Amino acid sequence: MDNATRDAGITMEKIVSLAKRRGFVFQSSEIYGGQAGAWDYGPMGIELKNRISRFWWKEMTQLHDDIVGLDAAILMHPRVWEASGHVENFTDPLVDCKKCKTRFRADQIDPEKLAKKVCPECGGELTDTRKFNLMFKTNIGPVDDGSGLIYLRPETAQGIYVNYKNIVQSNRMKIPFGIAQIGKAFRNEIVTKNFIFRTCEFEQMEMQYFVRPGEDEKFFDYWRKQRWAYYEKLGVRMDKLRWHQHGPDELAHYAKDAYDIEYEFPMGFKELEGVHNRTNFDLTRHQQFSGKDLQYIDQDNGNERYIPYIIETSAGLTRQLLMVLCDAYEEQKVADKGNEDDWRTVLHFHPNLAPVTVAVLPLMKKDGLAELAQEIRQGLKEEFSTDYDQSGAIGRRYRRQDEVGTPFCVTVDYQTKEDGTVTVRFRDSMEQVRVHKDELEATLRKAIKEYKRV
Ligand code: ATP
Repeated sequence: MDNATRDAGITMEKIVSLAKRRGFVFQSSEIYGGQAGAWDYGPMGIELKNRISRFWWKEMTQLHDDIVGLDAAILMHPRVWEASGHVENFTDPLVDCKKCKTRFRADQIDPEKLAKKVCPECGGELTDTRKFNLMFKTNIGPVDDGSGLIYLRPETAQGIYVNYKNIVQSNRMKIPFGIAQIGKAFRNEIVTKNFIFRTCEFEQMEMQYFVRPGEDEKFFDYWRKQRWAYYEKLGVRMDKLRWHQHGPDELAHYAKDAYDIEYEFPMGFKELEGVHNRTNFDLTRHQQFSGKDLQYIDQDNGNERYIPYIIETSAGLTRQLLMVLCDAYEEQKVADKGNEDDWRTVLHFHPNLAPVTVAVLPLMKKDGLAELAQEIRQGLKEEFSTDYDQSGAIGRRYRRQDEVGTPFCVTVDYQTKEDGTVTVRFRDSMEQVRVHKDELEATLRKAIKEYKRV
């Protein structure tokens, strides 16, 4: 089935509803009416988030010999954000409606309405456009007189730049090399709609790659290819992804060239991650502002000294989770009986990402089947993430597992007692095969390795 047919009628509301119903994502502080811009990850959500971040981490560090990891603090010296340009430039253009009080990003409303200062919601008069800094400010220390001003980091990248010299020295890194980091970032976003797509608190997965000046374009192309290949491995539908090159008016103050990878979400193509050529802007500024020598001494090139150029790959973890959810979601017609059982909602997660890899289901609770199923589950636990469910009709139990994207269900029945065989049911094809319980692990391992998205 083509994407357009499959995705017709899939709205963000449906994704949000499933995410809540099945414990992926809850609204923050829901019992108090919710906190805008913040979301909580439930039992399924945290498993999915952990798997995506582990997948990215493995891709960056384990599979690239020249990349090491870092976990820098969220709170950094306030001068960092002066040097980075965030205090001056990290702003969105903002307008308010004087009548309905709605706040808009000026670059996201109809330019004609903006020029005429007409509110797109109620037709009231808009204020002049002003700059609004997206950094959250707070205060550190006991005195609240402004002397303890500190920011919640709006990106993880700066923690990498200020540690680059430490890492070169402690780990004897040689250019070209990269530093990878996953962590929280905070932005006071004016408009936080579309669920977890744009939030005030989110997680980033960033990798900064340090290169010799003049080699930046070569490595920029290399990292664009690497990042595209990552999504192929992640197992998402590649025809839902596309590149978007930043035009001159879109380029950030530090960037020489920038491409976004965009995904076709239910609300249209939107940025998923950015690959940026940041030149030597960041380290030059930190050298200036800190007074510390941040030059690299290139021993392989006659001890030449230079400020490295930086290629950045910057992805949102929580945004990638939304992409994985949307990409996996399908409402599929599976029968023709004229009732609600004709349809199933299924999440086609790659088995490496699925919160539960295998669910073990006894056909009946009685006659020792539950005990036998528990025993089989116990044997699988060490290697696979498992679930156990003994309540309700077997068809209903399969559907429940489909809804959270469990790729394999193992059913234990009376025949298991006789000959030790179980049924393995595959989520995508709904095909069922009988295997001996001793071959279960090998069967699952093989199915995971050979998995292809339908
Ligand atoms: P935008 O212009 O859409 O506000 P940006 O281009 O400034 O975002 P970057 O600073 O390049 O975004 O951030 C890198 C990545 O971090 C983005 O591609 C996105 O995946 C993620 N990200 C940025 N802001 C948010 C947010 N408010 N909520 C969730 N993820 C975000």
